[in-house]
Amino acid sequence: MKPQSTRLAIIGAGIAGLTAARLYQAGGLDVQLFDKGQNVGGRCATRRRDGLAFDHGAPFIAASSNDFRWTMRRWMMGAALQNWKPKAATGFPAGLRLFTGTPDMNAIPQRLATGLDITRRVTVDRIERQPDGAWRLFDTESETLGDFAAVLITCPPDQAQRLLQSGLDTGLVPDHWFRRPVRMRAAWTVMVAFDGRVPTDSDALVLDGEPLDYALRNSSKPGRIREQETWVMHAAPDITEQFLDHPKDAVVDDFLAALAYHLDAPLPRVIFAQAHRWLYAHARAEAEFEGETKRNEAALPATGYGTGFGSAKATIEYSLFDPETGLGLAGDWIRPPASPYLGVQSAWLSGRDAGKRIRHWCRRRGAKA
Ligand SMILES: Cc1cc2nc3c(=O)[nH]c(=O)nc-3n(C[C@H](O)[C@H](O)[C@H](O)COP(=O)(O)OP(=O)(O)OC[C@H]3O[C@@H](n4cnc5c(N)ncnc54)[C@H](O)[C@@H]3O)c2cc1C
Repeated sequence: MKPQSTRLAIIGAGIAGLTAARLYQAGGLDVQLFDKGQNVGGRCATRRRDGLAFDHGAPFIAASSNDFRWTMRRWMMGAALQNWKPKAATGFPAGLRLFTGTPDMNAIPQRLATGLDITRRVTVDRIERQPDGAWRLFDTESETLGDFAAVLITCPPDQAQRLLQSGLDTGLVPDHWFRRPVRMRAAWTVMVAFDGRVPTDSDALVLDGEPLDYALRNSSKPGRIREQETWVMHAAPDITEQFLDHPKDAVVDDFLAALAYHLDAPLPRVIFAQAHRWLYAHARAEAEFEGETKRNEAALPATGYGTGFGSAKATIEYSLFDPETGLGLAGDWIRPPASPYLGVQSAWLSGRDAGKRIRHWCRRRGAKA
């Protein structure tokens, strides 16, 4: 085991966790990630079944930050990202440029994961402070996962709070960390493959209706198998939360009926259909916070990516870290995105900030590897 003074544990290998880990490791420091999932990427996800692939989490990304745009360029040069121009798209904000992972959305986190030490299929259940100040992680069977100088938690807030509950009870963790004006919103997603073309020229329908929020021809994205006719449809948070316990088969039927109704035409035969419920899909600023979030977005450098930019000073932090305890939080929810298309950017900005802060903290402790 490396000296405890440099070893960082990151819980969650989504965009935030992976980004933080890369920065930390690039500083010659030792980092280990843990994720309960089979794959890395969290909500930047692709479901594969029977030779089919569906981006059932974030379907595409956009940028309002110059730094993130530069990173996207690197992903494009590494063939993990491409511009997607859906044909006859309706309902997107004017000037919005969309990008998608290639050959699927999960290619982005997979690229970030290269060369990192990641333990998959492990749920971190408990974190305990040791007498020497180190943090010990435990899985659900109470097996020890190791001792670490610092721990960065990148799960959505409910899960992060559960992990830190004993620290909150003893005052070791500041409770204002979880009193942020942000709410995680749920989303029902349905993945469908048809045996023929869905009768529309449009590859992307933004419906803003009930139950469908938007419907996308997944197979029209760059790098996909064109012969397959695959669609991914998402419901808006309000209706999802109203029907959280709806049976999955009924959700599939409702979505298909809504698509047929919208197109006013029968759909081809369904050869595969599955619903997925995201309990924590979107980080949304609560109403009173929205103005502040927009001001912070406005403080970002101009990029020409569709939004107007001002010169307001950013006031909300991207990540949280306590140098006294070595505990930190990152993720899209720390500084929630101003638009649903900027979630991945928020996660990346947060992970980058956390990685830099913890690296700096480690060096200040004289623990440079
Ligand atoms: C349906 C949907 C549509 C979306 N649309 C867009 C879009 O169009 N554009 C956009 O930019 N963004 C979109 N997003 C949001 C975007 O996906 C997220 O903002 C971003 O991926 C969040 O990354 P993260 O690293 O903060 O969190 P996550 O991706 O949630 O990563 C957290 C990780 O922690 C792991 N974890 C949790 N608890 C534990 C534990 N106890 N032990 C171990 N591991 C644990 C999870 O498995 C997960 O991998 C969408 C998301 C969804 C679900």
